[in-house]
Amino acid sequence: MAELSPVLKQATPVLAARGEGVHLYDEQDRRYLDFTAGIGVTSTGHCHPRVVEAAQRQVGTLIHGQYTTVMHRPLLRLTERLGEVLPDGLDRLFYVNSGSEAVEAAVRLARQATGRQNIIAFQGGFHGRTMGAGALTSSGTKVRSGIGPMMPGVAFAPFPETYRHGWSETEAVRFALGELDQLLVTVSSPRDTAAIIVEPVLGEGGYIPAPPEFLAGLRDRADRHGILLILDEVQTGVGRTGRFWGHEHAAIRPDILITAKGLASGFPLSAIAAGQELMSRAWPGSQGGTYGGNAVAAAAAVATLDVVRDENLVANAAEQGSRLREGLHKVAAEHPVIGDVRGLGLMLANEFTTPDGQPDTTTATRAHAAAAERGLLLLTCGPHGNVVRMIPPLIVTADQVDEAVGLWSQAVHDAVS
Ligand code: PMP
Repeated sequence: MAELSPVLKQATPVLAARGEGVHLYDEQDRRYLDFTAGIGVTSTGHCHPRVVEAAQRQVGTLIHGQYTTVMHRPLLRLTERLGEVLPDGLDRLFYVNSGSEAVEAAVRLARQATGRQNIIAFQGGFHGRTMGAGALTSSGTKVRSGIGPMMPGVAFAPFPETYRHGWSETEAVRFALGELDQLLVTVSSPRDTAAIIVEPVLGEGGYIPAPPEFLAGLRDRADRHGILLILDEVQTGVGRTGRFWGHEHAAIRPDILITAKGLASGFPLSAIAAGQELMSRAWPGSQGGTYGGNAVAAAAAVATLDVVRDENLVANAAEQGSRLREGLHKVAAEHPVIGDVRGLGLMLANEFTTPDGQPDTTTATRAHAAAAERGLLLLTCGPHGNVVRMIPPLIVTADQVDEAVGLWSQAVHDAVS
């Protein structure tokens, strides 16, 4: 009998039979509060009726309109709808299926458009598992170890981390930008540097928001040196951080923006957006793929964007995010093992540390497992796996947030007793 490969690691023991809103149900119909949202994907909740309806209708109309062979309406509609929410000037789009593929596509685009080779990424960043995206990833060695050599031409600069170093935001930003400047004169000359790629909130690397001055500093370096700024909004996009795009917290504009996860409520779809002039420097036919911009996924994405707009989900993410953060701070105040609570909107983290400030992976793992036992599904992140993150669907209500905080408090209590 065939079995799933042990290469896959499952965060919880749940066998999900169905999903509805913020809940998952197992085969015994036990209900779980899903604060993982399929790693930040089910933005409108599980099986939102409008997403289901749009997808079902499209399945019966046209499943696969291969977009480099024929065009189809759902993709044109999606492009129009994204045009309404994308930053000014980022009005040329193309589509692939996953975050990793979109990152690869952005790198190909940046290299073609600039004629330069190198990409600067940040320590702790996560951009995917394919060979190119994996080469830009340093959120933990598990994505790289035994797999390299990776794509060449990647240089890493430090991400501004306050908690780890005990620094103020100003100190962390000054250090990180100083090191980036140093990198540009020692390792990767601007002449050779095509792009800087960054997440508005370091995701898998520990849910660390990029300070606005840091993103502004990157924009400044990019402008000064003709380097493209790629924002990987795969996890932070579509309202997750309490703004439609994560970079809106910093009021900067990227040259290339990548979005995926929350865009289609669970259907595989990602988009790469840039300006007309930049896109016209790419070579026609050098991007694409058999399944990119699938018609059902595109229809689901249009419905997702409609739900996000009509149900005010960006504002809800900000409001419920504040409520959740407040609750998490209270739990942390009772349990010194949680050294830091941070994040933006509904992308929040609890970092577990020992009394001498070292990563406490053991207690984080126990709290995560205890939460699942109590019916609250969560994920861990960070290079040491000592950060428990909460990333519920954007439709989460105040009552559900309060219920989750109650379960979390009990789970942490279980973990330390
Ligand atoms: N970029 C970021 C910021 C991500 O969080 C992820 C997935 N966690 C990816 C890229 C890769 O996306 P995918 O797993 O769809 O390839």
